[in-house]
Amino acid sequence: MQKILEPSREIDVIHKTDVLVVGSGPGGLSAALAAARAGVEVTLVERFGCFGGNITVVGVEGMHWYRHEDTVESDGIAREFEETAKAAGAAVPESQSLSYEIDSEGFKLVADNMVQDAGIHPMLHRSFVAPVMDGDTITGIITESKAGREAILAKRVIDATGDADVAHRAGAPCTKAPREDLMAASVMFHVAGVDKARFIEGVKADPQTYKDWGGGGEWNIETSGKEDDMFSPFLHKPFAQAIKAGMIPAQLNTIAGTWGAAHDTGELTYMNLIHLANCDGTDPNDLTVNEIEGRRQAMLAIEALRAFTPGCENIRLRNFGMSLGIRDTRKVTTQYVMTNEDAREQGRFEDSIGIFPEFIDGYGTLILPTTGRYFEIPYRNILPKKVKNLLISGRATGGEKYAHAATRNMACCAVIGQGAGVAAALSIKSNRELEDIDVTAIQSELDRQGARAH
Ligand SMILES: Cc1cc2nc3c(=O)[nH]c(=O)nc-3n(C[C@H](O)[C@H](O)[C@H](O)COP(=O)(O)OP(=O)(O)OC[C@H]3O[C@@H](n4cnc5c(N)ncnc54)[C@H](O)[C@@H]3O)c2cc1C
Repeated sequence: MQKILEPSREIDVIHKTDVLVVGSGPGGLSAALAAARAGVEVTLVERFGCFGGNITVVGVEGMHWYRHEDTVESDGIAREFEETAKAAGAAVPESQSLSYEIDSEGFKLVADNMVQDAGIHPMLHRSFVAPVMDGDTITGIITESKAGREAILAKRVIDATGDADVAHRAGAPCTKAPREDLMAASVMFHVAGVDKARFIEGVKADPQTYKDWGGGGEWNIETSGKEDDMFSPFLHKPFAQAIKAGMIPAQLNTIAGTWGAAHDTGELTYMNLIHLANCDGTDPNDLTVNEIEGRRQAMLAIEALRAFTPGCENIRLRNFGMSLGIRDTRKVTTQYVMTNEDAREQGRFEDSIGIFPEFIDGYGTLILPTTGRYFEIPYRNILPKKVKNLLISGRATGGEKYAHAATRNMACCAVIGQGAGVAAALSIKSNRELEDIDVTAIQSELDRQGARAH
């Protein structure tokens, strides 16, 4: 490949902060809030124009759809997102669980208010492009925006980009599965014009269960058995009928999945129906192809719903997510990599920074936390190797396949983020390296903030 040499240049240092969080999804927003509440200056950098990550950018609204009567979970910021959205009128009851589905548009405002109330310095519309390093210590980042390149210096940095952009470029060891083994990407969409009463009647007349998730592609799943007869807002039949009728090509039997909420205003939101294999979310060429292909498939899905789903005869596209949804890219080989057994067999750790119920969703497995089982996440799981002053939050933390299928869930990302934010703040306040900080002090602060470490 032809190469050119990029000339070196001087960059303005436009801002200095104690804790710098890069990326504002469930993993980043919670980290910023927790650090600010622990009493240090916090800056939150985000490449798009709103906070919330996949919730607001992709339209992933089901943050707590795993919750059943006996589910044991952290009561920290993960829960606060749902409660605050509810109080703001930005959440509706979720159809398959004892939870509320977060409104992806409304959460933009909810997040703005939470950031402002906590005194966090917001920096939207800036993409991280490179770390500022002093040997093996990260001391800040370089961003790119309409203003060109700018530097932000920080005492501690938290990588919450989902893709481990910061850790990877700073030289921390990361892994990424081959393209064909990555979880599928999805174009999410919402529709308007639903006759809610007729739609719900249709759902009740032919209730789907998790056992019915055998529609092909992403949806061939293994459960632990106890999930099989539980209700699931699953849509597969309309697309099978559309294939039979020649409206959808047979190879697109991957179009199937779940609807989120049916609103009184005639909207069906969080339509998780499109699954695009072989998409590497760190490759802009893959992203380009799949954004376009995903939108094309979404319109086929809408046509099928119009033809074969009661109450959907007059639906129209309301909106696509602002971006293609990516589930699976780089993971940082952190000092402790969560094992499949940790997630499946209630892992317990002295240096735990949070708990998450036994909810495994991904790589062909679905286990719902109906029994009170939960696992803990150790502090070492967010400490990268080889780079100092850096913590990892969100879905890029180190984990084997089934551990990742649990920790990637948004509520778990928020649990991890709260632990990361508190750890970064306490390491500054106690003047100790991240590696050397007193984990019991993190646990006490989490307790003060209302989150469970054990
Ligand atoms: C289609 C789909 C459906 C899903 N369904 C569910 C579900 O029902 N329930 C559930 O719990 N989970 C679900 N997930 C998984 C979940 O959404 C993610 O695993 C989770 O959001 C990860 O959180 P995060 O904070 O690590 O990353 P993200 O939510 O991806 O947030 C990362 C943030 O960092 C920003 N960013 C990235 N790179 C840069 C950069 N270089 N500079 C500046 N900012 C940057 C991004 O813009 C984004 O705001 C789903 C995922 C997808 C894609």
